[in-house]
Amino acid sequence: MAAAGTSQRARRAMEEDDAKLVFETSKGVEPIMSFDEMGIKDDLLRGIYNYGFEKPSAIQQRAVLPIISGRDVIAQAQSGTGKTSMIALAVCQIVDTKSSEVQALILSPTRELATQTEKVILAIGDYINVQAHACIGGKSVGEDIRKLEHGVHVVSGTPGRVCDMIKRRTLRTRAIKLLILDESDEMLSRGFKDQIYDVYRYLPPELQVVLISATLPNEILEITSKFMTEPVRILVKRDELTLEGIKQFFVAVEREEWKFDTLCDLYDTLTITQAVIFCNTKRKVDWLTAKMRENNFTVSSMHGDMPQKERDAIMAEFRSGQTRVLITTDVWARGLDVQQVSLVINYDLPNNRELYIHRIGRSGRFGRKGVAINFVKSDDIKILRDIEQYYSTQIDEMPMNVADLI
Ligand code: ADP
Ligand code: MG
Repeated sequence: MAAAGTSQRARRAMEEDDAKLVFETSKGVEPIMSFDEMGIKDDLLRGIYNYGFEKPSAIQQRAVLPIISGRDVIAQAQSGTGKTSMIALAVCQIVDTKSSEVQALILSPTRELATQTEKVILAIGDYINVQAHACIGGKSVGEDIRKLEHGVHVVSGTPGRVCDMIKRRTLRTRAIKLLILDESDEMLSRGFKDQIYDVYRYLPPELQVVLISATLPNEILEITSKFMTEPVRILVKRDELTLEGIKQFFVAVEREEWKFDTLCDLYDTLTITQAVIFCNTKRKVDWLTAKMRENNFTVSSMHGDMPQKERDAIMAEFRSGQTRVLITTDVWARGLDVQQVSLVINYDLPNNRELYIHRIGRSGRFGRKGVAINFVKSDDIKILRDIEQYYSTQIDEMPMNVADLI
């Protein structure tokens, strides 16, 4: 699996963005401009170039070295700028593939993200023969046991199943030296914190911890001192967090009932490349999907109440481009990378400011262009203005020619 060739234009856009980037970085962290200069093992370098990466992105220039030299690291960068790919690269560098023990554990909030990361590790690490396994709920426990007993170097999983495997002693933790939390603000928030702690208790005391996310609110940064030692911090200011390449718009629909027609009117625009439509509940996803289909629009949909087999099938179809319009919940808000997605619709506005950044970041991957369209009812306008202000960004009324921007 190669990263669908980054176009020249996208790369240039990315480099322009990089030049403007302002990181709030710990002293002593200097950007390293090429993968060659990072001290990466030859067979891994071969894998990186073969995967289609030519030059490290801004966050990779700054965070790879501290991570592979064993420091605790807190790394923040805009959506789609190569954070998760950096995790894959770093674990491949750190593990000793001559041993058959698990040495790195990556935790992610959704099964699809944990699987995506596993796939990137296997692709980049092809020439070093890295063994990685996605340890996630909704899959056969028997298969987990078989894989883990056979010996893997890296586990990329969701907290519930990983904890289960640790408690069964199928996942042995004694050789784990690196714990990475991708989407770490989500992993340390209410919904996951206890489960993460549950896993953490089983890990060796001299553990390296790496936190990654596009959003790292202060309340999360404040608790990091409890389990990290003098971390290298690479942070992005709030007003630098939205990407120039993702244009943001709103449509004033006034009332809930008028959202549907607005969406139907946009259908041709949705199918120009690929689009993701976010609703706030699973029920609404089901309802909207059914209603679109009744009106003869082709859409697919995914949410957390579907059997994993079905989720997998829908992901595969969407990743391959067989389906173009995906209606979903926040299960899709973070981390998932489908380069062809250029349009995101917030059918409902997200429930918090962080989710907004993650949702619109499903488009505009690695310097590509993206468009985000927010449907706002009259009483949503103040929420939108709050987001706009909080990130010092601009969300204009959707122009007639929005299709030309995609
Ligand atoms: P993030 O986790 O920051 O959202 P990802 O790691 O998912 O970003 O990467 C976004 C996209 O950019 C992916 O398609 C990935 O293959 C690509 N990518 C990441 N790093 C590079 C690089 N150095 N060169 C080219 N493409 C890259
Ligand atoms: Mg990511």
